[in-house]
Amino acid sequence: MSFESLGLAPALLRALADQGYTQPTPIQAGAIPVVLEGHDLLAAAQTGTGKTAAFALPLLQHLSTAGQTMTRRPRALILTPTRELAAQIYDNLRDYGKHLRVSSATIFGGVSMGPQIQALRRGVDIVIATPGRLVDHMQQRTLDLSGVEVLVLDEADRMLDMGFLPSLKRIISALPKQRQTLLFSATFAPEIKSLAMQFMHAPREVSVAPANSVATTVTHEVHPVDASRKRDLLLHVLSKDSRRQTLVFSRTKHGADKLVSYLEHSGLRAAAIHGNKSQNARTRALSDFKSGRVTVLVATDIAARGIDIDQLPIVINYDLPMVAEDYVHRIGRTGRAGADGLALSLVSHDESGLLRDIRKLLAQDLAINEVPGFELSSPLRLDANAPRPKQGQRQARPPQRQGGQRQGGSHRPHAHAQNNGGGEHAMGNRKRRPRGSRPAAKA
Ligand code: AMP
Repeated sequence: MSFESLGLAPALLRALADQGYTQPTPIQAGAIPVVLEGHDLLAAAQTGTGKTAAFALPLLQHLSTAGQTMTRRPRALILTPTRELAAQIYDNLRDYGKHLRVSSATIFGGVSMGPQIQALRRGVDIVIATPGRLVDHMQQRTLDLSGVEVLVLDEADRMLDMGFLPSLKRIISALPKQRQTLLFSATFAPEIKSLAMQFMHAPREVSVAPANSVATTVTHEVHPVDASRKRDLLLHVLSKDSRRQTLVFSRTKHGADKLVSYLEHSGLRAAAIHGNKSQNARTRALSDFKSGRVTVLVATDIAARGIDIDQLPIVINYDLPMVAEDYVHRIGRTGRAGADGLALSLVSHDESGLLRDIRKLLAQDLAINEVPGFELSSPLRLDANAPRPKQGQRQARPPQRQGGQRQGGSHRPHAHAQNNGGGEHAMGNRKRRPRGSRPAAKA
């Protein structure tokens, strides 16, 4: 299977060759022809499967060939849960569209709206936005959505988890009825199906892996450990190869910060990425990690969602997620595109119920191996009454939303060329505080 055989234009094929991509991933092979034919698409694919190109390539092709208009209204709208993801999609569109004349801009909050308004006035073909800030623009009438031909809902499940449904409904109802809608989601949960029923027209379904499955190239391993010795065990594991880029998941922001201080004191180069960090700090942490200046990135679930880091050899769950599905999202960052990956979880007694949930969801036993020197005082319980962390243990205190998240003032450098990126984590606006107590949405 080649990109050429999918019907992509020469300008895109050249850009793909520049990227070094030789063949389409399964989601690309499944989705691209369907999208090029103009169908609505419901695609089940998690981050790491190449899903961004699966919608970006046919979208660019459509915009560069069909119905060239002189209007300055956006012709495509991509909605995505977080600013990081929006920035990544922007980067990908720029890479894939480098031989085409298609412009894009990111729209997300946390910074002044002025530059975004100017970009919209100048006119862009593609708007990549988080729902909250987009609604702000709609309210201020600084955005005309009447020319949108293609709507992409990226990580739709996550947008719903984050409480964006009312914003999504509002945005979609402002779009032309006659349009193509592409919905990407890690799973086809009932809420996703219902969204599709309401807003899509006879969607074709493409699914690259059964819901909640994980890449077969990932090895799962559990190191049981007493809670009091977890930090030491993490250090022990990390020290085995201190040059290896490692993504570590912490359940809480506070926990992530504490862990980073501890690792730094121990001589490792670590950084944290979570919702209380300013946009600048988050962008810096990510680029330091990508460039190798930092070898350990400690992240919370929401902050890490969709972060595009190539071929990470190992992901460590310092804490297990409270919601088993988040395990799947977390380890989506290793074992990508055929490379081998290791998902290592450090599990203390109080988390054994969570481990049980994960095993059930994945329908597989995860290898449990004690590390010499870190043996458990008593074995993990994996029966029906296995304990789970209590409410209070997963989030020391409510997220502070005023300060940190709102200072993310600067534009990311890549956004300058044709774009006025803002800097708000989608969670940073009090109007969009997620409902309920779903811990993943708090991180
Ligand atoms: P995504 O699932 O969109 O986050 O993509 C995951 C990673 O796979 C990104 O780093 C892409 O640049 C990369 N990628 C996408 N398509 C291909 C391909 N056909 N061959 C190799 N890598 C790809």
